[in-house]
Amino acid sequence: MTGGSRVGTLALKDPSLFQDNGWVNGAWWPGVGGGRFEVTDPATGESIASVANMVPQDVSAAIDAAAAALPGWRARSAKERCAILKTWHSLIHAHVDDLAMLMTREQGKPLTEAKAEVLYAASFVEWFAEEAKRAYGEIIPSPASDRELLVFKEPIGVVAAITPWNFPAAMITRKCAPALAVGCTVVVKPAEATPLTALALAELGRRAGLPAGVFNVVLGDAAAAARIGEVLCSDTRVRKLSFTGSTEVGRLLYRQCAPSIKKLSLELGGNAPFIVFADADLAAAIEGLMAAKFRNAGQTCICPNRIFVQSAVVDRFAQMLADKVAGLRVGSGLLAETQVGPLIEAAAVEKVEAHLAEALSQGARVLVGEGGDTPAAVCFEPTVLVGATPSMQIAREETFGPVAPIFSFESEEEVVELANATEFGLAAYFFSRDVGRVFRVARALEAGMVAVNAGAFSNEVAPFGGVKQSGLGREGARHGMDEYLEIKYVTMAGLR
Ligand code: ADP
Repeated sequence: MTGGSRVGTLALKDPSLFQDNGWVNGAWWPGVGGGRFEVTDPATGESIASVANMVPQDVSAAIDAAAAALPGWRARSAKERCAILKTWHSLIHAHVDDLAMLMTREQGKPLTEAKAEVLYAASFVEWFAEEAKRAYGEIIPSPASDRELLVFKEPIGVVAAITPWNFPAAMITRKCAPALAVGCTVVVKPAEATPLTALALAELGRRAGLPAGVFNVVLGDAAAAARIGEVLCSDTRVRKLSFTGSTEVGRLLYRQCAPSIKKLSLELGGNAPFIVFADADLAAAIEGLMAAKFRNAGQTCICPNRIFVQSAVVDRFAQMLADKVAGLRVGSGLLAETQVGPLIEAAAVEKVEAHLAEALSQGARVLVGEGGDTPAAVCFEPTVLVGATPSMQIAREETFGPVAPIFSFESEEEVVELANATEFGLAAYFFSRDVGRVFRVARALEAGMVAVNAGAFSNEVAPFGGVKQSGLGREGARHGMDEYLEIKYVTMAGLR
């Protein structure tokens, strides 16, 4: 199958944004083995593309290309690299509708959310294009009068990026834009469920003028992912791996990178607490929770997984939430009225069902949702549970679906302890209008990101990342650029 042959079903304004081969060394790359794998629309189960399934030789070819392109790319001035990235940013904006269409078809999220993600993805390209011009070094006051001590910031080298399906565009640009901006070259492996968005970004990168080998995309199905990962981790020319995905795969990659002492960024699972104190503005808390919990059908690593509500307001809050959730419209992401799209695959539905069943068997109660008729096999009815307790599976593991379990608590001290009783530490949310409490709780929560009186907090200028087993490193902000820079200390003697 060649590029574009299923464009008809995807209804793109610019059909050449549909590509089904990898992108290696400035050319579409079918892979040496000739294998293909299917990309399906989760809303219908229909196959929408058959894309190249790559073998380790293809990955090595991509690393060869990235290594060969590195000297030329890093030698360009930051201003030159950034001009190309700004063109890429403009092209992503210009093609937002097609990128969103590809994303909704392969991932399922509603078109409005897909468009918002494309713009969010573009924002990283713009931010790092600007920020890389300010990758300043230092001159350190010297302890010896005949010496000057300098610090240079240099690109780390070839970077590998392995990305998940829940944000098919933004996870790529959040990693690749800073790497490219500071002079690194990149090999990216998108998730097997969502290669089409990645390939459209590569096509726009080509049009923007990214030279051959600077940005490469390798593809593989679930079985090939492990083999591709092994090559990316073991090749000593790859100096940095940035991964977003499950904690289990993150641990494996960490181990695989040990022999070559690769620098790592890991953005792994979460188990976000969402705390509502009795003094909170409850309407604002509901609004924040609706945005944070049901976006992407609950399939984000920063989704509130445990909703703790102070006992004095728990019944009222639960009813307010149930009323809102009952009005959510579930269905195909292509329909304008849809607010919650399908889950990514049948296995995801099974996991959510299992969490729900276990919670019910331990005494939780459904206020709204669960099991209503849904328009597609992998849609899950948004559900509110009350009477959740810390021993339930739903409290310990990431549910990754549209189920909101409510736990009741009595005191600030108790809820901070409950919130921190997890090996994860990505996002945490709380609502309170008491300024003393706001500072105490923001300090006490073990999380890389804390949202106070807000349900949405991610943007390109702020550092995204977790503590504990949620990962290593930060993305976005100037901190996200440091992940792709090495520090070189230069001492110059005999100057007097
Ligand atoms: P999720 O549970 O969100 O699917 P995964 O961690 O399985 O998260 O997947 C995230 C990314 O990691 C995807 O691109 C996937 O193909 C890739 N991946 C999965 N298993 C491996 C592996 N063993 N080695 C390298 N990459 C992997």
